[in-house]
Formats: sequence, structure tokens, C-alpha cells
Amino acid sequence: MNKISNYIQGNWIDGDGEELTAYNAINGDAIGVVSSEGLDYKGMLDYARNVGGPALRKMTFQERGRMLKALALHLTERKEKFYALSAATGATRVDSWIDIEGGIGNLFAYASLRKQFPDLPYAVEGDVVPLSKGGSFIGHHILVPKRGVAVHINAFNFPIWGMLEKIAVNLLAGVPAVVKPSELTSYLTELMVREIVESGILPAGSLQLVSGLGRGIIDHVTNQDVVTFTGSAATGMKLKTLPHIVANSVPFNLEADSLNASMLGEDAAPGTPEFDLFIKATRAEITVKAGQKCTAIRRIIVPEKYMEDVQIALGKQLQKTVMGDPSVEGVRMGALAAKVQVERVRKSVESLMEEQEIVYGNLDDFEVTGADKSKGAFFSPILFRNDDPFTKTKVHEIEAFGPVSTLLPYKDMDEAIRITEMGRGSLVTSIVTADDALAKEFTLNTAHLHGRILILNERCAKESTGHGSPMPLLSHGGPGRAGGGEEMGGVRGVKHYMQRTAIQGHPETITRITEQFQVGADQPEANPHVFRQHFEELRVGDTVFTHKHTVTDADIVNFANVSGDNFYAHMDVTSLEGTIFEQRVAHGYFLLSKAAGLFVDPKKGPVLLNYGVEQARFTKPVYSGATVGVRFTVKEKIDQEKRSEDDIAKGIVKFLVDMYDETGETVAIATILTMVKKLDQS
Ligand code: NAP
Repeated sequence: MNKISNYIQGNWIDGDGEELTAYNAINGDAIGVVSSEGLDYKGMLDYARNVGGPALRKMTFQERGRMLKALALHLTERKEKFYALSAATGATRVDSWIDIEGGIGNLFAYASLRKQFPDLPYAVEGDVVPLSKGGSFIGHHILVPKRGVAVHINAFNFPIWGMLEKIAVNLLAGVPAVVKPSELTSYLTELMVREIVESGILPAGSLQLVSGLGRGIIDHVTNQDVVTFTGSAATGMKLKTLPHIVANSVPFNLEADSLNASMLGEDAAPGTPEFDLFIKATRAEITVKAGQKCTAIRRIIVPEKYMEDVQIALGKQLQKTVMGDPSVEGVRMGALAAKVQVERVRKSVESLMEEQEIVYGNLDDFEVTGADKSKGAFFSPILFRNDDPFTKTKVHEIEAFGPVSTLLPYKDMDEAIRITEMGRGSLVTSIVTADDALAKEFTLNTAHLHGRILILNERCAKESTGHGSPMPLLSHGGPGRAGGGEEMGGVRGVKHYMQRTAIQGHPETITRITEQFQVGADQPEANPHVFRQHFEELRVGDTVFTHKHTVTDADIVNFANVSGDNFYAHMDVTSLEGTIFEQRVAHGYFLLSKAAGLFVDPKKGPVLLNYGVEQARFTKPVYSGATVGVRFTVKEKIDQEKRSEDDIAKGIVKFLVDMYDETGETVAIATILTMVKKLDQS
């Protein structure tokens, strides 16, 4: 029989024996056998630490980001291969899209995120902290990649997204990964890892795969490693509290199941667009991926007076959802990922049935189109109704990980909030309302228990990404029962794989470590002028000291004429009583413009363009008669890739513009962004 292999220390290895045979969820055909028995987990982690880690840490954020982009493009070209195999998990094309293209989308998103990091293997965080009167001693923070491995243990429902949403983040941070998908669906993860390995895009040691059970995979982790777990709360808690995980302070990110809710606002009466949106969104959350989404709506919170309407409308929608083999025209809902899941969901439903009534669907009596019901892992959508959510509380405890959800009534906002709270922390909650005051009240009273809140109404519905989709650059996770973890989240997520270290010293030392100019560091005079130097020739700290200019009334009036900014403080000297100004004050924008007039060396040279200003501040009023000059300093350099062969080779240079007056005090400060040619283009 076909073997589903593990990718360990640069080789494809079949485990000893046969732990599990994976089956096609639609027709029951065997796909292959998988095993991780006999794998050397310690060797695997050491290989990642000794081979993958150093290679990734040599690369800058920019290089790692470009690597992710190349990988995303490579996988996109091959996506149909993944769709073909994904069908075996019981997924429809839409379900597979979430897993495959949603996963690849994460790689693209984190590739672009490189632009928010420096051109270094490590990052500098936040602002400088002054620690001395004389300015010779300052503090800052740096973030360095952990010198360990990210061990990702994933649930069966997203064999591709589950891997990519996590490795996108640790690879950008410069940390290698070991991925353990659930063995129920690891055949699909294996296919993707084969494509990744064959591409040669990732350095050796940066990705390994355990396709089998992987018991023992975290036995050898240390404090430099990060374990992430996605799955049931029960397994997660068991692993998180293993004695060596606790004793070694191993970072452990837990993403567990949660009893997500969606609330219909009182304003969204039957007949309103919001009512229809609510029904549509709820139906989708029950049927997409056959309800096997950690974010799916399990509790449908409805104004008491609309319970009947919602029940009827939702029932009609579910009736229209044809279940069966997704390759057959018209089928909208596939199967659960494996037969063992049918048993698990059934057990949960039976337990819920002890307290609440099924108002749509039947455990045994349902139709399947284009497939043999007895061979596939099919499960009917089940809609429960529980009119007494404060005393019949299993609905707030049991997650049936399938197409199962419960209608719950509320009388007023206070009750609705209490019902959401009874889930004890969840990944996502939504409210469907056109009333922004109501949305605000609900959001501010429930945010403490939710990782994400979607507020849906007609104005945003068309472009809304929906209740169920965690977005790559937003945090995903939730407090309490949801595990207390946080993943993705853009820059925040990358920091989970890095050590934050406070550094203290002289500004010159801190400048050399951070490769960002810090005020108080050496400012050697640039020679020639910085605008005459190419990207490679510029050195952080090099400074142009400009000529001086004495500001006149004519400057201020002329600037007001040119810009049309006739604000009273610039134009009406009789109006200054009761203001902080003593005289007619120069426009801040005039000072910045004049600064450019002073620091620019106008002849054509390596500087291609100025594309923005950051962190501009006008720190002291400048009156007519003041004499100003500029210290113009190379602050930071960021290499850039060529977009195409004939693109100009260039990099980004940030300059600090420090304008000061005759007393030496800074009057305006800003960072300007320029693009500067590289030497080989001159
Ligand atoms: P699970 O049974 O808890 O398993 C999760 C993962 O842990 C699987 O890969 C499993 O491997 C592995 N595992 C179990 N025991 C282990 C051990 N001793 N050592 C190492 N690994 C171990 O969960 P599941 O049934 O796969 O997934 C469904 C659950 O995941 C649902 O409750 C759902 O809500 C939750 N989920 C949460 C999120 C989220 O982001 N919060 C996302 C998706 C799913 P094997 O399967 O190979 O045994």
C-alpha cells in the first residue's frame, strides 16, 4: 500500500509499522498508510537547530520575506495538484480554497510584512529610551530570532492552512519548523511538503514533517523552542502541562476549540437586509467544511421574538444545501474528514440531545448525492433549539466539531452578553446589526472574552471576509477555553519567535548594534554630500551640516500664498492673544520645505526620489528673525530587490532631518524616505 512519509533531516522516511490507514472521506478508498514509529525526534530537533536555524539567521528579514514570496508563487503554480488530493478529505472546492489558497495567502501576507522590518536578521523595536541627562547613555530594545525550533502540532481539519499560517510567521522570524499535522489528513500536508522540498527555496533544515502520530515529538524541546498546538482543549492542556514544558519555560501557544457565537441585533428584524445576512452567514458557518472549523458558529443568539422566523429561514436554507460527493454538480457540502469523526460528532450531538431539541436534520435519515452513504464520512447538518440557555448549559460546554449549531433566545442586551460569556472565552463572535450604538455596546462588553469580533451589516457585507476566516495580519486566538493563545497577527506574531532584549549603552554603540542612527551618536561630516553617494557608500551616521537661513516675514507670507494656508497664527498678528504664540509664527510645513532647500544637493545623482516623510514634529515655534540650519543624517538603509531585469538596482535610505535654531535647539525633526541607486547602475 502507498506510504505517507515523514521528512526528517533532509530525507523522506517511512516510520516502522503501520499506525493508521488514511481513507478517502467520500468513497472510503484507502489512500495510504502512515507511521512515525521509530523516528529520532531528538535528532530532528538538533538538525533544525544546527542546520536550519543558522541558515535562516544569516538571512535578513528582507531576504526571508522574498523567500516566502518565491515559495508562495511556486505553490500557487501547482495548486491544482493540491485541490485534486484535497477532495479526498471530503472538501468542496470552496472548502479546499480556504485550506489551500488561504494558506498560500498567508505566505504572501508575511512576505509583504518584511517591509515593516529592518534590513537585518534581527529587529529593533519601539523608541529609544533616554537614560541620562547628558545623553551619553540610552536604552533600546532589540528582537533576535530564538535559537531553537518551532514545533507545530496541528488539527486534522486544515492540513495545508494549518501548516502555512504558522510556518510563514516563524520563517520570517528566522526560526526553523517541525510540523506535525494530524495523521488523519497528513497525506495532503505531505504532498505540499514534497513540493516545497523539491522547489529548493527553503534552506536545508528549515522545514521537517512528521506525518504520523508523533508521540514524543516535544519530549526534547528547550526554552529556545516554541511549541504551538492547534486541536482540542483536552489534548492541548495535557501537552502544555507536561512537566518538562513547565520546568523549562518552553513557550507554548495553545489554540483550542471554542463555542463561538453569532448574535442577531434587535434592529435586524425579518425583512431587513441584516436579517438575511445573518441567515446566510449562519448557514455558511454550519455547512462550509461540514462545520469542521474552529471558528464555526456553534451558538446562534437571537432576539426571543424572532426565534421562529430565524428557525424557519435557516431551516429553508439548510434544506437547499445538497450534501454528497463535491465533484458532482450541485453538491454544496462534503463529508467529515474521516469516519472516526462521524462517531465523535455523533457522540457530542447525542450528549447535546439530552438537553435540547433538534429542529432541523436527522442523525440517520439524510440524503447523499453521488456517493455511497455507508462508505463516506457524511453527517447531516443539525440545528438545535434551546429555549433555556441559562439552565440547559451543555451547549456552552460541548463542541460538536461538525455541521452542528444551536439557536438560543435572548430578551435584552444584558442577556445576550451573558450568553456569549457562558462560552468562557472564544476565538470569534459576530453581531449582525445596522445599529452602530448597539454594535459598540456589544463589542465593548464582550471583547474581553473574544479573540476577534466581526460586526456585519449591509454596508460592509459585500467585502466582508466573514465570521469564520482568521485573517493573516490579524491576531487569531482567544482567551479562556479557546486556549489563551495568539497566532498570526502580523508583526506581533513574528515576535512570538524572537527574544526581546533591552540594550543599554552609549548612543554610538547602540547605533552600531541597531544600525539605526541614535541621537547623540557620532555624526561625521559626509564627504562628498550624501546626495552624491550611492547606496553602498552611505554609512549610518554620515551627516550634512547645511548653510543657515534667517526666517523673514516675507517667507511666511509667501508660503501662505503658495500653499493657501492662511491660518491666523501665520497671517494675523493681532489675533495672538490667548494663544501660545508671541509673534507671527512660521508654518511647520514651511520649515520642512526650507529644510529640503537647505539639505538637497540639486544636481542629478544617485538619489532617485523622495517618497515620504515619517515621524515629523514641529517642536518649537519659529518666528521671523530666527536663524535655522539642518543636520541631515543617514538614519537607516534597507536593501531592495529588483522587480525585473531592467529595473534600477536601488535601496531605501532614511535620513534624519534635524532643524535647529540659533540657540542650538531643535525646532523641527522628521525622517525622510528616499530611493538611492546602487553603484553598478552609475
Ligand atoms: P486533537 O485530537 O486534540 O489533535 C490535535 C493534534 O494533536 C493532532 O495532530 C494530534 O495528532 C496531536 N496529538 C494528540 N496527542 C498528542 C501527543 N501526545 N503528542 C503529540 N501530538 C499529539 O484535535 P483534532 O481532533 O485533530 O482537531 C479538532 C479540534 O481542533 C477541534 O476541537 C477544533 O475546534 C480544534 N481546532 C482549533 C483551531 C484553532 O485555531 N483554535 C483550529 C483548528 C481546529 P493525531 O491526530 O495524529 O493523533
